[in-house]
Amino acid sequence: MSLRTRAPWVVLPAVLTLVVGASAASSATGGASDASPTAVTYDLLLRRGHVIDPKNNRDKVLDIAVKNGKIAAVGSKIDPSRAKQTIDVRGKYLIPGLIDMHTHLFRGPEDAYSDGVLGLPPDGFTFRSGVTTALDTGSAGWENFELFKKNIIDTSKTRVLSMLNIVGKGMAGGDKEQDLDNMNAAEAAKVAKKYPEIIRGIKTAHYEGPSWAPVERSVEAGEIAGIPAMIDFGSAKERTIEELLTEKLRPGDIYSHVYSGLRGELGEDGKLSPALAAGRERGILFDVGHGGGSFDWNVAMEGKKEGFWPDTISTDLHVTSMNAGMKDMSNVMSKFLAMGQPLKDVIEESTWKPAQALGRKDLGNLSVGSPADIAVFDLDKGTFGYTDSFGLRVDGKRKLVTELTVRAGEVVWDLNGRTAKPWKPGAVGDKTHTEHAAP
Ligand SMILES: [Zn+2]
Repeated sequence: MSLRTRAPWVVLPAVLTLVVGASAASSATGGASDASPTAVTYDLLLRRGHVIDPKNNRDKVLDIAVKNGKIAAVGSKIDPSRAKQTIDVRGKYLIPGLIDMHTHLFRGPEDAYSDGVLGLPPDGFTFRSGVTTALDTGSAGWENFELFKKNIIDTSKTRVLSMLNIVGKGMAGGDKEQDLDNMNAAEAAKVAKKYPEIIRGIKTAHYEGPSWAPVERSVEAGEIAGIPAMIDFGSAKERTIEELLTEKLRPGDIYSHVYSGLRGELGEDGKLSPALAAGRERGILFDVGHGGGSFDWNVAMEGKKEGFWPDTISTDLHVTSMNAGMKDMSNVMSKFLAMGQPLKDVIEESTWKPAQALGRKDLGNLSVGSPADIAVFDLDKGTFGYTDSFGLRVDGKRKLVTELTVRAGEVVWDLNGRTAKPWKPGAVGDKTHTEHAAP
């Protein structure tokens, strides 16, 4: 009897995995031709990579096959004759595509981050660092999210998610981000509920006044839409980090810029504020959000000493941060390696933990059926300098370098030309690839 005609409830446990495997393969190929062991089944096969996939507790050398933009198979030996394209990634780390939890991508002609010149167009800055999903954190607000979606989200290969700003105009700079009248929980929640897959949180940032309204309204909007709030605590002595983390935020809400030292994270005694541990105890998540002014080695090293590692690693990518100490996602991850954090933890904080924080458990993992968003890294050895936001440097012995990035099954970054044919006299290249061809 064919396995496919047998009712699932009569399948014996011993063959259950075989049935699951067969149905996954047949849905990937859409036909019965995969019954032949030599049939070409997969679009892409990445062979012999050291897979680190924290969700699935994988930490060993494996092959990963891709079909129709999804992970189709993971195994210790997948036959290369079954794949249209095979790339040998021996000696490299093969991990889920990174999720950058803090970026500014609403590039446009205005003067700040909201449709502004300080934002960056995603694809030029994500793939080269292994990032396949980037969370824009509040550049767009509930008044101009549609423009952000049309101009950036819908035109990017990078998967762009959003933390919608509680300020209607988003991060438009100066007084516009202080305008309490433009911070509206009901309006923000309404837009968030219209795009539940994309808008995965509510952001408040840069507020300088004494009022708790920006935080309270962000939490309120998050409560209505069923999503977390992310806090850039701005600046104001009247509002304390203790009250924020022990009273105002809910479990699952996110405190960004945790190592900035600008908002009471480090006490005058040189120790971390007890509010951080108290917040973690309550289930509040802590994000790096390195940026141009929010990573201080003094705070981070005290965090190491006290075992207070981040829940999520992120860049706070924008025009100035990427050209200063932050640089890019793999550089920020390498800083945590330099501090002595295990590679597996650094990868989890850049893949599976952000996926969970965003309620997007389809991302940040290499399960069969998940989107084929994959990063391949080298771990270079040498002496590397890692600078914080204040001109202080820590040297490290290892550096993550992005070798290959795959987004939805397509190779979108290939540092050493692994997908190219070696040149020799008379070789003919693919002339459909011209410099200015439309994507
Ligand atoms: Zn930011």
